[in-house]
Amino acid sequence: MTTNPEKWDVLKVLNWTKGYLAEKGVENPRLEAEWMLCEALSLDRVGLYLNFDKPLSDAELAAYRALVARRGKREPLQYILGTQEFMGLEFRVTPAVLIPRHDTEVLVTEAAKRGTTARSILDIGTGSGCVAIALAKALPQSEICSVDVSAEALDVARGNAERNEAAVQFFHGSLFEPFAGRRFDMVVSNPPYIPNSELATLQAEVRGYEPMGALDGGADGLDFYRRIVSDAPGYLNPGGWLIFEVGAGQAPRVLGLLRSGGFLGETFTQTDSAGIERVVGGRLGG
Ligand code: GLN
Repeated sequence: MTTNPEKWDVLKVLNWTKGYLAEKGVENPRLEAEWMLCEALSLDRVGLYLNFDKPLSDAELAAYRALVARRGKREPLQYILGTQEFMGLEFRVTPAVLIPRHDTEVLVTEAAKRGTTARSILDIGTGSGCVAIALAKALPQSEICSVDVSAEALDVARGNAERNEAAVQFFHGSLFEPFAGRRFDMVVSNPPYIPNSELATLQAEVRGYEPMGALDGGADGLDFYRRIVSDAPGYLNPGGWLIFEVGAGQAPRVLGLLRSGGFLGETFTQTDSAGIERVVGGRLGG
């Protein structure tokens, strides 16, 4: 893509980019080329389609080329465009936070179902704030607190709460650290759960750009589940819920942790759209 004597129009640019990104191993090259061109030209997708034969100015071409170069290095599209949709809400994302995954909507849905009478809910490891914010929208009568060990992530999460007009209180610290003397009716978490040995096998986008602290779950991936299950009884009211997202294949072991940690009531697992057991939970006591 050199500047512009042959008049690069929208369609020609898209076709060129599709080939370039495909060569770099990007999964949906044509669609992503379109999203980035929308961004560079400040058009929506309909606008883009109506302008297929519009020639790009040198400035537009330069702006677009910068985005495509980043994507060619396998930076996630969401960091390039700066947003990700989750539960119908828009979240700003930066490399300080994990990009919200659609699988995690199962955690929100299952927690919201069981939280209709919860006075207070804590989201551990809030990252972008997607889980806490979506819960605050679904359960406006509940007090929603969230905690993260990363101050940078909390900045992003606070911005997302404001943007989505969600009443969430944010705390800086590790797991239950900021909550001495407090008790909640529900604790939810999508903790880091990738086993050490699998970190190197993750997609280039994840491995190269997403925060390692949001991914690394220790030797077997279960470190955070063990810590949270063992501490949670000190921060939950009797009958309080503990609900987790888990990685593929982890549900039986995390359910075992819950049961042996005293979470014996109404234990459940819930599958995601791919049929993988994605959410596990139970109530303190039994
Ligand atoms: N709670 C955030 C999410 O579900 C962050 C999770 C994480 O960083 N492990 O996207």
